[in-house]
Amino acid sequence: MEALPAHQIPSYIDSAHLGPWGVWLEQIDRVTPHLGKLARWVETLKRPKRILIVDVPIERDDGSIAHFEGYRVQHNTSRGPGKGGVRFHQDVSLSEVMALSAWMTVKNAAVNVPYGGAKGGIRVDPRTLSPGELQRMTRRYTSEINIIIGPNKDIPAPDVNTNEQIMAWMMDTYSMNQGSTTSGVVTGKPISLGGSLGRRDATGRGVYVVGCEAAARIGMDVSGARIAVQGFGNVGGVAARLFTEAGATVVAVQDHSGTVFKESGIDVPTLLAHVAEHGGVAGFAGAEIMADGSQFWSVDCDILIPAALEQQINEKNANSIRARIILEGANGPTTPAADDVLHQRNVLVVPDVVANAGGVTVSYFEWVQDFSSFFWTEEEINLRLTRIMKEAFAGVWLLAQERKVSLRTAAFIVGCTRVLQAREMRGLYP
Ligand code: NAD
Repeated sequence: MEALPAHQIPSYIDSAHLGPWGVWLEQIDRVTPHLGKLARWVETLKRPKRILIVDVPIERDDGSIAHFEGYRVQHNTSRGPGKGGVRFHQDVSLSEVMALSAWMTVKNAAVNVPYGGAKGGIRVDPRTLSPGELQRMTRRYTSEINIIIGPNKDIPAPDVNTNEQIMAWMMDTYSMNQGSTTSGVVTGKPISLGGSLGRRDATGRGVYVVGCEAAARIGMDVSGARIAVQGFGNVGGVAARLFTEAGATVVAVQDHSGTVFKESGIDVPTLLAHVAEHGGVAGFAGAEIMADGSQFWSVDCDILIPAALEQQINEKNANSIRARIILEGANGPTTPAADDVLHQRNVLVVPDVVANAGGVTVSYFEWVQDFSSFFWTEEEINLRLTRIMKEAFAGVWLLAQERKVSLRTAAFIVGCTRVLQAREMRGLYP
């Protein structure tokens, strides 16, 4: 990326190490020439609306006091309340949460759900905490960000290392502070607390639906496809399961604990059970262990699904990827430099802001159901989810063909145009 004018990088960001925020800025620079007169508002996307950094102190089980760094960033609320997950991970940083919140802005607009973009996180390895410590940290974090979240302000949801239980604690903490049960403050809750049927599988299901659409466009038969998945959690695990149910073969899986490979196909339900019991793919007896994890990227496959962290597909490995389709289950898994390489090599990249939008789509359904206290069947939810994902993909595909741009640029044109039109119509206050 070329050096940006100093005023374009907020002083609270280390301009020498922009990290994921640098990826976002470059993506915005790439879409700007396609925004016509709306480009005059583009600076608004290069700085988050609101950032809250909080200290999260907890008493450990041994009586000592530990402090963790927590964030909630509301990137843009032009189209509605902030919406985006909460991540617990040792590498969480301001740059990362800013970028994740920004991708939520474009994603929510690209699938046309009435939200702005937000994201939160705590810099912690939750595996080092006892269940009691995890609960105390979650509740303290929720109390600290309580002033900016709410069902009409900003609605958190699960992300890496957060789940239904964490959402239940967040909902309860917010409700205790409000004095009344407020289920619509978070989504991804347990069904018994106003969660939605289908939410747990929604992101992986959306990845699967757009994957089938993309495959059909290039004449690939999903039932014979070979799949490699990085990240075998909520997103990667569900996507792998759905692809195998459709007849595809999962040949390689990588997670934080290691990489497993089996030419004839990994038995996905058995691997899911192993991960549920042991916390990772390491030690799985039903496949070969790949000692050198970097080899994962050159596995012979048709569809590659990055479903873990950002910047995993980069200049170092983009040339060795053999897949014809990359389905971005993760947020920000591909750097702009890798995007260029893949584009030249004719690898179809289905961008995160469309591919993984199934989660926020069913979160939207959950929020609507909570407001109306009227709950839908799983069949209705999956039908509506499938329709929205197919429509979003088709619109982006068509635009990419018309403008001769990548699917990412097309998705950004759709999303940024909606956000900036809303910005322009609202005008600047005062
Ligand atoms: P998760 O915590 O359920 O799973 C994360 C997976 O990533 C785990 O298998 C973990 O082992 C793996 N992982 C972590 N560090 C890794 C590393 N260094 N190398 C390889 N694998 C690693 O999280 P999730 O909800 O499945 O989220 C995965 C990605 O999908 C994230 O980028 C997240 O932002 C994105 N996403 C999630 C949702 C959702 O609804 N949960 C929605 C949209 C996008």
